[in-house]
Amino acid sequence: MGHLPEGRTELAFPDGKPPYTDAQAAVEAHRCLFCHDAPCIQACPSGIDIPGFIRKIATGNLKGSARTIFSSNILGMSCARVCPVEVLCVGDCVYNEMGVPPIQIGRLQQHATDAALAHGWQFFEAGADTGRSVGLIGGGPASLACAHRLRRFGHRVTIYEQRDVLGGLDTWGVAPYKLLAEDALKEIDWLLSIGGVEVKTGVSVPGDVSWDALLAQHDALFLGFGLGADTRLAADGEGLPGVYGAVAWIEAMKRGAVDLSAVRSAVVIGGGNTAMDGVRELTGLGVPEVTLVYRGTEASMSGYAHEWSYAKDAGARAAWQTQPVAFEGTERLTGLRCLKTGDDRRPVPGTEHTIAADLALLAIGQHKLAGLVQGLEGVEVSRASRVVVDAQGRTGNPRVFAGGDLANGGKEVVNAVAEGREAAIAIHQLLSGGT
Ligand code: SF4
Repeated sequence: MGHLPEGRTELAFPDGKPPYTDAQAAVEAHRCLFCHDAPCIQACPSGIDIPGFIRKIATGNLKGSARTIFSSNILGMSCARVCPVEVLCVGDCVYNEMGVPPIQIGRLQQHATDAALAHGWQFFEAGADTGRSVGLIGGGPASLACAHRLRRFGHRVTIYEQRDVLGGLDTWGVAPYKLLAEDALKEIDWLLSIGGVEVKTGVSVPGDVSWDALLAQHDALFLGFGLGADTRLAADGEGLPGVYGAVAWIEAMKRGAVDLSAVRSAVVIGGGNTAMDGVRELTGLGVPEVTLVYRGTEASMSGYAHEWSYAKDAGARAAWQTQPVAFEGTERLTGLRCLKTGDDRRPVPGTEHTIAADLALLAIGQHKLAGLVQGLEGVEVSRASRVVVDAQGRTGNPRVFAGGDLANGGKEVVNAVAEGREAAIAIHQLLSGGT
């Protein structure tokens, strides 16, 4: 699946969390207290039986451990690397309260799931054909998880993906020191080996195939097409060479080589986790001066504190309470003109200054795509431009379900996987005659 060229920039990064050896995994697994009512499970959006899979590692049953993980989270390998465990399972490990280093749950999950993919262990098979068919729009984590679970129920599935390969942000949007595109694609190949998942790439919905045609063709639809292109600032000079959307830039780095040889200073605009990734990537690639530009304070940014801590350790600086107003340069970007902001985040007159920059990454969000559902009767869109769903992904149209970033506004891969899985269960109820 997919053809990735040699010499991609993403390959320049060392693995941020190198794999455990068998001995290291065994030692770490034996530290687990196998808590009753384990808080780590409660903190996992996909509800993996964490002490259960750790106990299996401790007893040498690596295959059983991987089965436990993938039973709850079919992208368990990606999530082991991508999940912000510091604020999820690891953050809630009881050891934190004892002043003892918490169990490295992500590293252990990585150990078991890597082994499963390396050995090609299979744990699931497709159910007997029900003759019912589901169309899944978007080929990211939510749709993949939904499709896999639907195949286990025996339903026919077709994924419609606009790009050339599957995976969405899991393939193209994750910082390379966490997950390489080739590894994301390996896991997707493994997932698809359940068989019977029809994949149609290069298909845009509703541009190439209308909602009416999809509803006529399938018994149910799952909408999992996530978010769109990077949001722009609409500031002067934004079209200059050297100004990029952060998500598009990460994808460029994962698809091929990006040339930073002439870049002496870079700015990353935003305060979320994409901005944190951008800062860490640029410092990791050797850009001498990397500055995070954020209009709020450090305490108010939505990016994870641990990610900013890594970025600072790598040499990044921050310009807090700073609002970009224009990109400067004639032939290409030379600087970012800014104003300072007050505690109300409003620009303060008379504080204009320029931060030198040969490269700027815009990490201020991505366009919402919920407007594309116009024409799907009964499907509501919230004021925050999210498709409105219940806890099982049901929309107001009984045949249409949704999950992932399109419905949750932009969360983690693990949230998308859990939502896709739950929607599959609800779709199965519908197709089996339930409600
Ligand atoms: Fe093990 Fe920590 Fe989970 Fe307890 S909270 S089961 S010690 S990982």
